[in-house]
Amino acid sequence: MDMTKTTNVLELECSACGKKYDASVEQHLCTCGKPLLARYDLRRAAATLTLENLKTRVRTLWRYAEVLPNDPPVSLGEGMTALVHAARLGKTMGLQRLYVKDEGLNPTGSFKARGMTAAVTRAKQLGAKALAAPTAGNAGGALAAYAAAAGLPSVIVMPADTPVANVMECQAFGATVVKLNGLISDCGKYVAERKDREGWYDVSTLKEPYRIEGKKTMGYELWEQFGGKLPDVILYPTGGGVGLIGMCKAFDEMQEMGWIGSERPRMVAVQAEGCAPIVKAWDAHQDSAAFFPNAATIASGLRVPGPLGDLLILSMLRQTKGTALTVTDEEMLHAGRELASLEGIFAAPEGAATVIAARKLVASGWIKPDESVVLFNTGTGYKYAEAWQRALLTPGPA
Ligand SMILES: *Cc1c(COP(=O)(O)O)cnc(C)c1O
Ligand SMILES: [Zn+2]
Repeated sequence: MDMTKTTNVLELECSACGKKYDASVEQHLCTCGKPLLARYDLRRAAATLTLENLKTRVRTLWRYAEVLPNDPPVSLGEGMTALVHAARLGKTMGLQRLYVKDEGLNPTGSFKARGMTAAVTRAKQLGAKALAAPTAGNAGGALAAYAAAAGLPSVIVMPADTPVANVMECQAFGATVVKLNGLISDCGKYVAERKDREGWYDVSTLKEPYRIEGKKTMGYELWEQFGGKLPDVILYPTGGGVGLIGMCKAFDEMQEMGWIGSERPRMVAVQAEGCAPIVKAWDAHQDSAAFFPNAATIASGLRVPGPLGDLLILSMLRQTKGTALTVTDEEMLHAGRELASLEGIFAAPEGAATVIAARKLVASGWIKPDESVVLFNTGTGYKYAEAWQRALLTPGPA
């Protein structure tokens, strides 16, 4: 089809070795095994992508059209989530400028919708016949929903102990659900082994270039919601790291467009104590992360023992003078109640983890009281009934 040739994505570039690929056809990983990044004509983008022009645009992430693939969007109203000033919670840790970016407000209740709207839009345009992905939880529901919206079949492969809400939503959206006794890494292998034979387009985390594009819009939204500025610190619950990589890519694009200088928000990767490959590598001053054995946490989105984007995540933490730290499951459940009761936001345990991490970093002096700090609540708490049931049957914070 000729349509596929008219993409505004100039090329795809390997994030590790720099090798270039044609963006007008289906591409997955580089031959070196690492993720590809989409490149645009940013000088051209900067001419029309302005705060002024944004005022009248669609209130979804597709408002940043110049820096997204220019295909007809498969959209369910994702993005432009609330940035909530969490004054009461901030007071408990001595922060006046604490904000929660509430990604639980997205379609299917998590920020996975951002990645999937972009990936499914591009896959459809490239003529994909069926979409497949492994999932630790929310990615599956988002892929199943966007596949349904695109009129395409989907295959979702998940660990057998994935939260029940994630299984039900995939089934409701008409996906084929495969449950395996294993982790997301095993599910990924299952997809990789069958995709060619079955004719599946692999939408696995970082194995196609466009989920990053969708998720990077969180960085653009922060800039817009802070009135053309960025916060000092961003705390991000890190599983595959797509959002962290995406936001840092957005900041680089903004600098190239002349919106910001070389300064960056300090990025903080928050992981679960039971699955912390990035924190382990960070603490050991390593460039890459080793596979984390026996991964276990109620924060299913963080149960990613071998993230493919490890090099990128670790280099972005270094470049932004960020850091990485762990939170226990008990702390997440406690913080979830605190965030809900103080601010009216019922968060996923992944999002709640950032509350604990922020408090620890304020206590250690790493975050200063006058700094602006954004916590990413990456998903809604409503999908984690099993986990919350445990917490809410025990006495909570006074
Ligand atoms: C997937 C997921 C994460 C991790 O996201 P990455 O960008 O892959 O690191 C965090 N929180 C929730 C709720 C998720 O679903
Ligand atoms: Zn490469």
